[in-house]
Amino acid sequence: MVPIGEMIGKYRKRKHVPQRTCVGCRQVLPKRTLVRIVRTQEGVLVDQSGKKPGRGAYLHDRRSCWERGLKGTLAHALKTEITAKDLEELLAFMGTLPDETSASE
Ligand SMILES: [Zn+2]
Repeated sequence: MVPIGEMIGKYRKRKHVPQRTCVGCRQVLPKRTLVRIVRTQEGVLVDQSGKKPGRGAYLHDRRSCWERGLKGTLAHALKTEITAKDLEELLAFMGTLPDETSASE
């Protein structure tokens, strides 16, 4: 009989999903459920491709996390100041997000 711990380990290894932390609520989640924000030469912007080079941080696609992030945790995570111009872009993106996801976590 195979020890159950060994079997669980095998299954865990088989399906590795990259995990990232939402800087709004600090929840750790699969990368694809989060929106990447990247610090580039041009400033801080939303990286919808998820592939832009630069220091990145992640936020849920829901408004409450963005509000918290834009109040300070995002700038902290990116180790930069977010300019008024960048903030405007980020707020515009936030405006397209739902208030709260109906799906309970
Ligand atoms: Zn969040």
